[in-house]
Amino acid sequence: PPDVAQLGRSSWTLLHSVTATYPENPPRELQTETSAFLRTFSKLYPCWVCAEDFQDWMKVNTPRVSSRSEFGQWMCEAHNAVNVKLGKKEFDCNKWEERWRTGWKD
Ligand code: FAD
Repeated sequence: PPDVAQLGRSSWTLLHSVTATYPENPPRELQTETSAFLRTFSKLYPCWVCAEDFQDWMKVNTPRVSSRSEFGQWMCEAHNAVNVKLGKKEFDCNKWEERWRTGWKD
């Protein structure tokens, strides 16, 4: 079975990178496909307790895919929900683009 921490780091890299390259003004069809991708991803995620909790979280926190900034914020909130669950520090979501898209300035 996969290492849950290693799998998590790789998966967050993929997910945040997807939001970073998401269009500012996504066509309706892409928004639908993105929501479907997230639903499927949450079902196939190969750590069942993670997958179950992520699906429950998504029921209450419907994916916001209407723009890059909305989607990036939403993904940051999803990641923070897991951070809180694991007793980790919450990430400042004002900084998601700096972390995943434009790069740290220092
Ligand atoms: P990670 O949490 O993997 O973060 C990697 C990097 O992302 C950080 O170094 C930081 O720079 C950046 N980052 C941190 N928080 C945010 C944020 N909110 N927004 C943007 N960037 C951020 N593990 C479990 O043990 N139990 C679970 O139930 C569980 N559920 C998961 C569900 C999903 C959908 C995913 C993708 C992962 C899940 N994980 C779970 C794995 C867990 O989230 C971590 O990936 C793992 O614990 C390794 O943590 P880490 O401290 O190395 O950094």
